[in-house]
Amino acid sequence: MPADWTFADFDTLTVRRFRTSLPCCKSILERGPKTSRIRVPVNYHEPTGKVAELMTLDWQVCSRARLSRDPRFDGKFYIGVVGSGVYCRPICPAPTAKEKNVRYFPSAAAAAEAGFRPCLRCRPESCPGTPAWLGTSNTVSRALRLIDESGLEDGGVELLAERLGVGSRHLRRLFVRHLGATPMAVAQTRRLHFAKKLIDETRLPMQQIAIASGFGSVRRFNAGIHKIYHRTPTQIRKLARQTATQTDNQYLFRLHFRPPYHWQGMLDFLAARATPGVEVVEGSAYRRTIATNGFEGYFEVSPDQSRDALLVRIDFPEPRSLFHIVERIRAMFDLNADWTSIVQTLRSEPVLAASVQADPGLRVPGCWNPFELTVRAILGQQVTVKGATALAGRMTSAFGKSFAGPKGLTHLFPSPGNLSDAKLASVGLTGARAETIRALARAVVRGKIKFEGVVDSEEFLSRLCEIPGIGQWTAQYVAMRALGEPDAFPSSDLGLLRALSLTSARELERRAEPWRPWRAYAAMYLWRIGAPQKGAAKRAFHEREKIVSEEELPSRTANPGRIMCG
Ligand SMILES: [Zn+2]
Repeated sequence: MPADWTFADFDTLTVRRFRTSLPCCKSILERGPKTSRIRVPVNYHEPTGKVAELMTLDWQVCSRARLSRDPRFDGKFYIGVVGSGVYCRPICPAPTAKEKNVRYFPSAAAAAEAGFRPCLRCRPESCPGTPAWLGTSNTVSRALRLIDESGLEDGGVELLAERLGVGSRHLRRLFVRHLGATPMAVAQTRRLHFAKKLIDETRLPMQQIAIASGFGSVRRFNAGIHKIYHRTPTQIRKLARQTATQTDNQYLFRLHFRPPYHWQGMLDFLAARATPGVEVVEGSAYRRTIATNGFEGYFEVSPDQSRDALLVRIDFPEPRSLFHIVERIRAMFDLNADWTSIVQTLRSEPVLAASVQADPGLRVPGCWNPFELTVRAILGQQVTVKGATALAGRMTSAFGKSFAGPKGLTHLFPSPGNLSDAKLASVGLTGARAETIRALARAVVRGKIKFEGVVDSEEFLSRLCEIPGIGQWTAQYVAMRALGEPDAFPSSDLGLLRALSLTSARELERRAEPWRPWRAYAAMYLWRIGAPQKGAAKRAFHEREKIVSEEELPSRTANPGRIMCG
């Protein structure tokens, strides 16, 4: 990377203003290099209604990132090469094209809409995902999350817009502004990319890939692939070099991230909280049992640092669920995080700056199953992490379904149905804690609380808080790890307060104000600061999540609207 410029350039989210009306976006993007620009400070709380100016990529920053093949920009923009007609990732190993032949796009879908084909060398389909925050638009981030969860199959854009509480025309406009493509094009590109991933990285028969990637029929799948790649699926598979041999029901994927990624930090966090029987951390790998759509299996994740990727081995009998499983793993390991922006903000706090420097790339661990995570958070109220883990293990072996998996995987985590009437006192829970868990389970069984398709996290969290025994700490912790809210912050957490030698949640919230919208990442660093590393003081490590009693917390923090990233 050239020494004379910094990534701050990219982070200020350089925005160009065009007088042209929105539908012309494509032609603007194709117009190529332009140097005049204005800088607009990022305002994450800006209402999403303003479409006065069109946001697009800054040509100079893209150009520098392209020439240096900087992996930190992977997935943040795409490069179309006029002449060859392909679009690439910023890290493409192919010889660098001349600037005048290059067009920059904010998303793969935008490049596809402009008529470019995905490069077969750098494989744009294996990019890290779009950063979850996307500048100023929460609506677009939420829409993308919903598209990830269930695609656009049922009801299309109209229904998606309705769920988000905006008009469909407005949603289209927002998509074009932030991603350079319509919601439909984004969904379609994702489907195609996933199909390509399955062709390259698995041995699934084409017919199953067609179904798993949502094409409906093999004929449509063949046509779709041929149109985009100018090759048949079989020809593409011949080109792919499959290194690992895979057995039936086993799929090996490589999921990329933008470096840095602090794998050890992720692993330490998950290891301390691994529910016995359900999750295992062994060596540098994480393994767990999973159940979805009535089928059961497990997956294993380990790092492939040399390639800025995680190796994911999935053992699952139903290939139709693969897309869903892969997306959930991506979220769980926070692979779409935009480190450049995060570090820029966290550096402003001296306490965090040193830690960020020493341990770059710490991510916020998500979860496989939000219900499980919430139960786990309830178990963790006022006890040590170690104590909560032991309770979770006993609960699982008493109420979870048994599962014959590899080393250490013996159970599935109990489902809401298993827990709604469970006699939890038998595994050592206090009466109040047991009742909270049963109440949560019943609310999920009755559909009063739905973890899937959460559109408005504030509303979701306030409903969660209606359950007796669930307070702000639990809600913020759930927001952080189950909803992937980058600004969630359990400000009453004792470990966080200790790391900064503060005594009240209110003080901490004031101090944390400049860390928005990345307070969840700040929390990860503060927990790490409060946790002496490796052996020396294991006790302190395990105690770091012990919290101020939920009941004792005064109402001052009971205002999720103010706390959450709006
Ligand atoms: Zn390429």
